[in-house]
Amino acid sequence: MGFCLFNNVAVLARYLQQQHGLDNILIIDWDVHHGNGTQHIFEDDASVFYVSTHQYPYYPGTGATTETGQGRGKGFTMNFPLPPGCDDAVYIEIFEQHLLPRALEYRPDAVLISAGFDAHRDDPLAQMLVTEEGYRRMTQVVKEIAATCSQNRLISILEGGYDLDALGRSVTAHVNELQRDP
Ligand SMILES: [Zn+2]
Repeated sequence: MGFCLFNNVAVLARYLQQQHGLDNILIIDWDVHHGNGTQHIFEDDASVFYVSTHQYPYYPGTGATTETGQGRGKGFTMNFPLPPGCDDAVYIEIFEQHLLPRALEYRPDAVLISAGFDAHRDDPLAQMLVTEEGYRRMTQVVKEIAATCSQNRLISILEGGYDLDALGRSVTAHVNELQRDP
């Protein structure tokens, strides 16, 4: 719908399954836009669990809590639609209280991040208030999932982010946290 030609994270998920024999893949999408393409590609597939936080209602319009997957994929899509103005505390609570326990139960063989940084408070597109410190702490939670379940197999793919200074600071905080020893 205008932001990409190929769905990189979806291609990667299937690549890991087909070329590396991994079974269950968890995709955590914290881009401020709902990943409607990723959800749709895997909505009937329990081997790829798609979780998204996003501003809602907002472009592209999908991502209600009632969208939880279809058929054999029922229960393996989880959406956290959020009103404008959500800050680090809201995101951290979702990651620690809701995402973490469900992810540990799922036990993914690899964890992928659709790492958009357009929920940053300086971003011109959306109206969220996440800071670099928030992204660092969200990264920490995802690292905990990967350490517990997937032998630290964790791959982050850059997606949105439209204020270049905020994007640079957020990516730096994210990558520093990824590289930090536990
Ligand atoms: Zn976005």
